[in-house]
Amino acid sequence: MTTLNEFSRCVAQYDPHALPVSAAQAIVRQWATPVTAVERVPLRDALDRVLANDIVSPIDVPSHDNSAMDGYAFNRAALAAGASELNLTIVGKALAGHPFMGRADAKQCVRVMTGASMPADCDTVVPQELVERSADSSSIRFAANAVLGGANRRLAGEDLARGHAALRAGRIMRASDLGLLASLGIGEVHVRRRLRVAFISTGDELRSLGEPLDPGCVYDSNRHTLFAMLRRLNVEALDLGVVRDQPAPLEAALRSAAASADVVLTSGGVSVGEADFTRQLLQTFGDVAFWSLAMRPGRPLAFGRVWSGERPGVGQPALFFGLPGNPVAVMVTFYQIVREALLLMAGATPQPLPVFQATSRQAIRKRAGRTEFQRGVAGRDAHGQWRVTPTGSQSSGVLSSMSEANCFIVLGHDEADIAEGESVQIMLFDGLI
Ligand code: AMP
Ligand code: MG
Repeated sequence: MTTLNEFSRCVAQYDPHALPVSAAQAIVRQWATPVTAVERVPLRDALDRVLANDIVSPIDVPSHDNSAMDGYAFNRAALAAGASELNLTIVGKALAGHPFMGRADAKQCVRVMTGASMPADCDTVVPQELVERSADSSSIRFAANAVLGGANRRLAGEDLARGHAALRAGRIMRASDLGLLASLGIGEVHVRRRLRVAFISTGDELRSLGEPLDPGCVYDSNRHTLFAMLRRLNVEALDLGVVRDQPAPLEAALRSAAASADVVLTSGGVSVGEADFTRQLLQTFGDVAFWSLAMRPGRPLAFGRVWSGERPGVGQPALFFGLPGNPVAVMVTFYQIVREALLLMAGATPQPLPVFQATSRQAIRKRAGRTEFQRGVAGRDAHGQWRVTPTGSQSSGVLSSMSEANCFIVLGHDEADIAEGESVQIMLFDGLI
C-alpha cells in the first residue's frame, strides 16, 4: 500500500509547512478514486446526477428536414431562372406533424408552417411576411432576392446526428441535457451512484441549534454550511453531529463515518498546537498528512484516508479532509480543495471554474508566497467594465463576509500588495455556491 506520505513527497513543491494550493490540489486529485456503482434512473431523476456512459444518438434530430419559418417551400431551381420576381402556384399545405405527400415542380410551392417536414423536391422556404398572395390565394409573388437557395430549412441531424455521442460520460446532467435525451426518445439513463459524504464538527465550545448558548460557547455553523455546500453538489450528506475535543469519541465518530461514507469531513481541531490528540489519533489509525497550506484563509488542513477498522488498511476506507474550524476557512478550503475531489469521486469530469479579470476599486494588502481568497463584491460600472471591492473584514471567522460577497478575489501565490485600480482575478460565486 502506498501511503500518503510516500506519495506526497514525490509531488513537486511538496512542503507540508507551506504547501502551495496547486500542489495540494494535485495530491488530492490523485487520491480521488471515482465510485464505480451505477444505477439506472428515469430521465427526470437524472438531473444533477453524473452520467455513467456516453450516450450515442440512436436517431437523427431532427429526424427530417423541416421548415424553420411559417412560409412557402419551393425548389431553389426557381431562383436559378434569373427572373427578378417569382410567381409560384400553391399546390398544398404542410403543418408540423402533417406532411404534404404530393410533389411540387419548379413553378409550384407548398404552404408550410414551422416544424413541418420539407415536402419532396423543396429545399427553400420564403417567409410569409415577404410574399404577396393572389386575390384567390392560389399563388404567391415575391422578389427573387428576398431569399437565398436553401434558406429557412433545418436539416435532418443538424441538432444531433445518429451514431454520434450526444453526451459524454462524466457529465453532470443539466436541464438542457434532460431535454436533449428526451429528443432522442431516451427515457432512462445510467448514472453513478451518489457519493456519500459524512461531516462532523469538533469542539468543546460548539452548541447545536436548540441548545442554550453557555458562556464562551458558539453555535455550530460549519455543519450547516457544509450540509448546504454538499447538497449543491448533489452528494448524499450524512450529518454525524458534534464531537467533543477528546480522542475516544473522535476515533469512534471517524470509524463509524468511514463505515458509512466514501468521504469524511471534519471541521476544527487541526491547527498547530491545539488538540494534539487529533494528530496522534489520525496518525495511528489513518494515513493522514497535516498540511499548512500556503493559503489564506484555510491554512491548516489534514488530508488522507481513514478506515472503519482499528488500524490503517482494516475495514472500509474513506477519504478524509480535516478542515479548519473558522467558518470562512471551511468554505474556502471546501471550494478550493475538497470540491474537485468530490466531483472526481462522484465520477464527474470537473470543469475549471470561470475566473476573469476585474479592476480593484481599492488597495488590497497581500503577502507574496500564499494564495489568498478574499471576499469581494463585483459588478460592472457605467462603462461596462468589471470592478470589484473587497468586503469589509477579511477575518476567517467573519462569515458575513461570505454572505455579502458575490465572488472570491483570487490573489495568486506570487502576487503582493494590489494598488487601487489594478487588475485582479475574480471567481464568481454563481455556479459555485
Ligand atoms: P479550531 O480550528 O478548532 O481551532 O477552531 C477555530 C475557530 O473556529 C474557533 O474560534 C472555533 O470556535 C471556531 N469553530 C470551530 N468549529 C466551528 C463550528 N462548527 N461552527 C462555528 N465555529 C467553529
Ligand atoms: Mg476547536
